[in-house]
Amino acid sequence: MKRAAPVTLAALLLAASGCASPSVIRRLPDPTITPPRPRISRAPVATPRPPPRPPPSTPLAGKVIVVDAGHGGHDPGALGVGPVPEETVNLGVALKLIPFLEQRGAQVIATRTGDRFVALDGRARMAEEARADLFVSIHADACPRSSVSGATIYVARGAGGASRRAAGSIAAALESSGIACRGVRKAGFRVLVGHSRPAVLIECGYLTNYHEARALGTSAYQARLAEAIAEGITDHFGP
Ligand SMILES: [Zn+2]
Repeated sequence: MKRAAPVTLAALLLAASGCASPSVIRRLPDPTITPPRPRISRAPVATPRPPPRPPPSTPLAGKVIVVDAGHGGHDPGALGVGPVPEETVNLGVALKLIPFLEQRGAQVIATRTGDRFVALDGRARMAEEARADLFVSIHADACPRSSVSGATIYVARGAGGASRRAAGSIAAALESSGIACRGVRKAGFRVLVGHSRPAVLIECGYLTNYHEARALGTSAYQARLAEAIAEGITDHFGP
């Protein structure tokens, strides 16, 4: 970067202070303005001091969260009206959810990070072995009636307060981010009942609904879902 001529620099200083009128700039030889000049012109352009970073916000520090992308490998899950099978939607949302949680300080364990089959008992065992503070299973739904749409959150029948509160927080976060949610329901899914840790299963929407299937196949909608789920989990563990 070229050094600025003294007058131009001073003019800039004045302009930055809101005094941009030429008549004011011509009154430069004011000795109270000149002292900063040498310091500014000597400052090495290549080594500007970065602004101090705000302290990282890590509301999930110390929390272990298992993120479970449903299906995979030879198990494609639900096949809807769109071109993207459930296993791919689930993995897309899960892989976007992981960094949102890690940025908030959580230790995240993924049951799968690629297109591979993992048995349901193996997924449940990972929750147990990790002593997970929350097991989050990501799925997408199917229904014979194509008009049905919206996300649904499941907890195990007889689920404890931690699972129910987490499910409620996630449902609320989905709603507040503009994603329709059908509420919290109970079910006996193996990944919910096969271990003792708090757990929720999120059906992100219906692959049998034309509009939702199209959205669920897009990276942008998957990211919206992931961010809302992360917000809900953060609210659940928050003060
Ligand atoms: Zn599924």
